[in-house]
Amino acid sequence: MNITCKCTAVHLEFFTQTALFRHECCCHDCTAALWYAHKRGGPAPPVYQCLDSSWFPNAFTIVKGEEKLGAFLNFKNADSTRFYCTDCWSVVFADHTFYEKKVLVTQVMNYQEFEGLTNVELMPPQARHFVKDLSPDQLAALPLWREDPSHVYQGPADNLLAQFPAMREAGQEGKDMNAQILLEKIGGAFVPVGEPRLSEGPATLMRKMTRQAEGESHDDNA
Ligand SMILES: [Zn+2]
Ligand SMILES: [Zn+2]
Repeated sequence: MNITCKCTAVHLEFFTQTALFRHECCCHDCTAALWYAHKRGGPAPPVYQCLDSSWFPNAFTIVKGEEKLGAFLNFKNADSTRFYCTDCWSVVFADHTFYEKKVLVTQVMNYQEFEGLTNVELMPPQARHFVKDLSPDQLAALPLWREDPSHVYQGPADNLLAQFPAMREAGQEGKDMNAQILLEKIGGAFVPVGEPRLSEGPATLMRKMTRQAEGESHDDNA
């Protein structure tokens, strides 16, 4: 599987073609991140608030563009770290504390201006989740859900959470390159200032569950 950015300065190559899971995320945070990147000059996100998302093992090779990669958090102490091309502001993949360094998620295929995800075998979407983040108008604007209607979730998808241990098991923490090694090389993620839209979403259940799973002592520096 390969990920490239719009300007092609960044090219990542993964060691598998097969996604570990695929779903559609309607949470505020995912779309707000692409909106912010678009504001900085990046490609346009979908007009509706819902992103096609696929997980892969956290192991890849940077074919080119290591020096072009940057990282940001939507807000201080956010659980998701999003990696992007500093030249063209395509968001290429994201890490989350819940992934325990074993997997990462990409939403680069939501961009219509270029084909960011290639050489890949995607499964049908298994769920559509966090529709609670949508207003009635936003809900009405979504593409039709053609899969099992019981797999549309107000909060986090039950079938995703049930699958996560197996996804981590099938995942990988790349020895030579992974999201954490890359973040170290970048020098950490920055937090945009003066961008209230990035943090105005409702606190996600995923975020709360992550906290519970990690216990009270978790300092949430991710
Ligand atoms: Zn680029
Ligand atoms: Zn999301």
